[in-house]
Amino acid sequence: MSYINHMVPKVKAKGKGRPWAFASECAGIKRLGLLFMLVCLLLPLVTVADGKEQLPQKVVYLTFDDGPKKTTPELLAILDELDVPATFFLLGYQARAFPEYTRMIYERGDTIACHTMDHSSGGIKDEPSQLQLVFRRFMKEMHDVLGDETFTTDLFRFPGGSTSYPFPTKKMVTDLGWSWFDWNAMTRDTYDDMNEKAVFASVRNTTKGRDVVILLAHDGKKNTRLALPDIVQYYRDGGYTFRRLSTSMEERRILARCPAHMRLPDLGPEGEQLLLESLEARGWSR
Ligand SMILES: [Zn+2]
Repeated sequence: MSYINHMVPKVKAKGKGRPWAFASECAGIKRLGLLFMLVCLLLPLVTVADGKEQLPQKVVYLTFDDGPKKTTPELLAILDELDVPATFFLLGYQARAFPEYTRMIYERGDTIACHTMDHSSGGIKDEPSQLQLVFRRFMKEMHDVLGDETFTTDLFRFPGGSTSYPFPTKKMVTDLGWSWFDWNAMTRDTYDDMNEKAVFASVRNTTKGRDVVILLAHDGKKNTRLALPDIVQYYRDGGYTFRRLSTSMEERRILARCPAHMRLPDLGPEGEQLLLESLEARGWSR
């Protein structure tokens, strides 16, 4: 606190009889105050002296499943308005039904990830090798819809979440070079009795105490669209940074602190070592 006292000149009663001097001192103090606030706001963004980039301590990934839907443009407009990034776990057949909306998601720069073609789970539960076909068909669909052969994704979410799938199916995802993600906070927006207030309450209750959050929401849900301004404000107030899922080194470092079920393909011994060192350097454990 002495630092602040040192920074801010004392207001002296001597200003009596010279109101303009007092007013200008007040203005000076206000300016210094604003400057101090600005420095406080920018400090977390400044890179550390050793040149290593500081990763945000609190991160939230907004994920939207089962789209695109006919209301996707409404959702995207809200996300634009709130200025937050998102990750979309799309269904291949939905992308075919709403190609324009799929392109809107892509052009926004949001992450497009695979949630199978039609939300069916039976085939891949019984026969893990079917996943190869699922991924191939999904990629082909995206190339056709987006008109961009360079599009690629290696992110997958199991229909209904990973817990009901046998180990060989989960292992097959990473064997094929893909990663899979569940979530550790949720909107419960698919339940019939969930209005936007209940959705927001569910987000708060399931987020509590978590620094790295993967939030499950669904495209096409009005309750979630209505709750989004409150949800985003809640995370902003809590000091969270909004990010998109990926398997980059930077995201791996952040996700290593996330308790959600997920599995990313191994980086190999060298990559794993790098990841561990970077975590240890920040005092984090896996
Ligand atoms: Zn789903």
